[in-house]
Amino acid sequence: MTIGSMLYEGKAKKVFATDKPDQVVQYFKDDATAFNAQKRGTIVEKGVVNNKISERLFLLLEQAGVPTHFIERLSDRELLTKKVTIVPVEVVVRNVVAGSLAKRLGLKEGDPIEPAIVEWYYKNDALGDPLIADEHIRLMKLATPEQMTEIKRLALKVNSLLQPFFRERQMILVDFKLEFGLHNGQLILADEISPDTCRFWDQTTKESMDKDRFRKDLGKIEEAYQEVLKRVCGEGL
Ligand code: UDP
Repeated sequence: MTIGSMLYEGKAKKVFATDKPDQVVQYFKDDATAFNAQKRGTIVEKGVVNNKISERLFLLLEQAGVPTHFIERLSDRELLTKKVTIVPVEVVVRNVVAGSLAKRLGLKEGDPIEPAIVEWYYKNDALGDPLIADEHIRLMKLATPEQMTEIKRLALKVNSLLQPFFRERQMILVDFKLEFGLHNGQLILADEISPDTCRFWDQTTKESMDKDRFRKDLGKIEEAYQEVLKRVCGEGL
């Protein structure tokens, strides 16, 4: 596997070309951002943790029949993936009230959401990733109605697979964000699934074990990421 030129640099990852036109390498950085990149910092070894957790979760989902971009983990920070064209819609699944939902609608943080809900956000940094409705997706032709139906079905399937996985590890899967992409015309799960993109609360203490520790300056950020790695992959660094 030869790694080629950088195709894209995002807030938490770089994407590199490979010698195969339909495969890319995701390189996980330690850079952390929050509040539409107004807050910036570093979480030591975050890239390694997020890469290993993503590998474990993509494997679990693949084995359960969810198509993903995952091919193999190449190193501590590199994930070999299928090249996709990202659908510019961020898909959020919520099991418990938290974050922007609590703020926007005045709902009580920690209240259960049953059944889980799915929300769409327009993936656009300049606009601050606004919440959008199905009609806006249709209006802007971000995805077809058939693709939206499939994305929602897959997002809820991911939730029903990940909820028990985390419950067994004494964690509550509060909410998470997914991104989907098109690979040879097929809709597949892409990006990452990690403490950067999910909210996890410890089942006993209800303490945050995710990027909220960075967003809210709660301290012990690195420790929380390492603890998630330990519970998910059964290892430390
Ligand atoms: N999320 C994300 N990237 C974003 C926005 C949200 O990964 O750009 C994740 C976030 O970590 C949480 C879920 O999506 O697990 C729901 O986030 P929310 O809408 O509550 O926004 P936030 O409170 O993060 O601003």
